[in-house]
Amino acid sequence: DFVAIKKQFVIIGLGRFGGSVCKELIKQGHEVLAVDTDEHKVNDFAKFATHAVVANSTDEETLRSLGVRNFENVVVAIGDNIQASILTTLLLKELGVKNVLVKAKNDYHHKVLEKIGADHIVHPEKDMGRRVAQHLSDDKIIDFIELSDEYSIVELFATTKLAGKSLIDLNIRAKYGVTILAVKKGEKIDISPEPTYQIEREDLLIVIGNNQDIKRFEDQAM
Ligand code: ADP
Repeated sequence: DFVAIKKQFVIIGLGRFGGSVCKELIKQGHEVLAVDTDEHKVNDFAKFATHAVVANSTDEETLRSLGVRNFENVVVAIGDNIQASILTTLLLKELGVKNVLVKAKNDYHHKVLEKIGADHIVHPEKDMGRRVAQHLSDDKIIDFIELSDEYSIVELFATTKLAGKSLIDLNIRAKYGVTILAVKKGEKIDISPEPTYQIEREDLLIVIGNNQDIKRFEDQAM
């Protein structure tokens, strides 16, 4: 089995976002130092995090005494208090933390975080909203990864129209410019299927290509 290399993280702010990042990292086998000013939150996370401490991240001495500078990865998940989020990020970069990921609340917050050297800035609500809208507007697409503005990888269920045909018969790459990277059947996955592979209904096709080509493939072939 593939085991990820164990890493150490600090999560500052144990709201919905920070809390869910913390639980997932632990689930993946990593170590997490969880920090929040709220004692109740810290108590709740004592059983999930490797260590959970009550501390205020806007205080430089506190960050030093927690040894935060020894961590390569810190997540700043302070929700509403933009000032605290900015000051925390600034202190972390001054202490020399290599990789600081910050949750931004709005565009102004994002801009400031960029200026002070945040390494990754995320907008979970905005990103999730876009994903949900994309799912709602195209119900054939089960999941997708945007590689750039133009290219994506999408998961689509094969329709009866495709069933029984081989990849050669369908000539998908030449006709639509998209490539089938893999085919999933329940838990089983076939990476780079043979050209003679016959598609079955309910196969989950993992397709890579230009967004317009993917759309054309969906509209015309499916
Ligand atoms: P979400 O929208 O992700 O649920 P919240 O605003 O609910 O975010 O949670 C942010 C968390 O960050 C809260 O638990 C809050 O106590 C914590 N927090 C806010 N300021 C600080 C700070 N200076 N140091 C540490 N934790 C903080």
